[in-house]
Amino acid sequence: MRTRDSEPLLQVEQLKKYFPVQAGLLRRVVNQVRAVDGVSLQIASGKTVGLVGESGCGKSTLGRTILQLQKPTAGNVFIAGREITGMPHAELKACRRDMQIIFQDPYASLSPRRTVAQIIREPLDVHHIGSPSERRRRVAELLEVVGLRPQILNRYPHEFSGGQRQRIGIARALAPRPKFIVADEPVSALDVSVQSQVLNLIAELKRDFGIAFLFISHDLAVIQHVSETVAVMYLGRLVEEASAEDIYRSPKHPYTEALLSAIPVPDPKRKSSRIILGGDVPSPAHPPSGCPFHPRCPAAMDVCSNVPPPRTDQGGPGRPHYVSCHLYSGAES
Ligand code: SF4
Repeated sequence: MRTRDSEPLLQVEQLKKYFPVQAGLLRRVVNQVRAVDGVSLQIASGKTVGLVGESGCGKSTLGRTILQLQKPTAGNVFIAGREITGMPHAELKACRRDMQIIFQDPYASLSPRRTVAQIIREPLDVHHIGSPSERRRRVAELLEVVGLRPQILNRYPHEFSGGQRQRIGIARALAPRPKFIVADEPVSALDVSVQSQVLNLIAELKRDFGIAFLFISHDLAVIQHVSETVAVMYLGRLVEEASAEDIYRSPKHPYTEALLSAIPVPDPKRKSSRIILGGDVPSPAHPPSGCPFHPRCPAAMDVCSNVPPPRTDQGGPGRPHYVSCHLYSGAES
C-alpha cells in the first residue's frame, strides 16, 4: 500500500467511477456511464473545497467514491498520506473512522426506530471507541457542540425539525473525531431560515476541529459561505478550480459564469444578466465529443466539438486558477 507525505490531508488522483450498462439475455456490458471521469483534487486539514454543479453531473458519486462507499473504476485516494483505494476490507473499516459523511436528506438518513443517543453513538459502537461511560459522555458533548439540548437524548427523529435532524446527523458524523467529512448537499432539504444556522455550524467545526470538508452543493451562493476553494464539475469532470474569491470575482469557464449568473442579485437597482443554459446535462453514458459542454455553451467554437480542452492554469503566481476551456487553450476556432 502506497503512503504519502501527510499534507494535504486528502489527495485524489485521476479518480474514475464508471457504471456498466448491461443489455440482452446474457446481460452483456454494452456501455459505461462515466459518472466520474478522471477527477484530481486536494484538501488540506481545516479547509473546505466546495464542489458545485447541476444535478446529475457526478458530484455525489465523486463524494461516495472518495469515501470508498463505491469502488472506484480507476484512480487513487490518499487520506493523511495513506492510500485507501484497494485497501483490504478490515483495514478500510478501521480507516472509516477518519472519514464520515453528512447526508442531504435529514429525514431519510436517520433511523426512525433509534433514539438520538443511539444514532449519535452508532459510529462509536461500530469502531469500538471508548468504554460505555466514555461513549455516553461523548454523545452528551456532541449534542452541546451542535447546539442541541441534552434532554433530547431519548427522543426519536420524527420529533424534530429538519434543521435539528441535520444537527443530529452532523453530531453522528463528528462522533469518531474524523479528519475528513463529505457534506453532500447538507442544507438543500432545509428551509432557507435554518440553512444559515447549519452553514455557520459547519464553519465553526472546520475552525475548531481542523476537519477537512468536501462540501457538495448545486448552489454557488451556498458554497461561497463555507469554501476556501471551489471546484466546478460538469459531466464527471472538473472544469474550473480556484480560490473561492477568484471564482466569484473572475470566473473563467462559461459554465461557471452561467452558474454564477443564476445567483439572485439582492440590489434591485443592479441589473441581473442571467445566462440561460439550454437543455439539461447530457447523459454521462453518451458524453458529447470534444468539450462535453459544447452543445450548451454560448461561447462554443468549431474546435470545441472535436477536441477536448486541456486543463490550463490561468492564475497568477501563488494563485492557481485551473480551467478546461479552449477560450484559454490557444486553440484556433
Ligand atoms: Fe465552451 Fe468551447 Fe470552452 Fe467548452 S471549450 S466551455 S464549448 S468555449
